[in-house]
Amino acid sequence: MAVPYGRKSRSKSRMRRAANMRYIPKDSSLCSNCGEPKAAHHICGACGQYAGRQVIKVVEAE
Ligand SMILES: [Zn+2]
Repeated sequence: MAVPYGRKSRSKSRMRRAANMRYIPKDSSLCSNCGEPKAAHHICGACGQYAGRQVIKVVEAE
């Protein structure tokens, strides 16, 4: 049976752990209203619509 050659440093262990916590937007889609990229099954951040209806008010920056 394979045995680990040496003990991994605290830094290496934490780097591996952090890689699993990293946010990767893999199932992103485009908004059907404005065409902006958004996360699937989430409200669009650009126009505030979800499933063809207005859910939140979007305040435009001046
Ligand atoms: Zn949108």
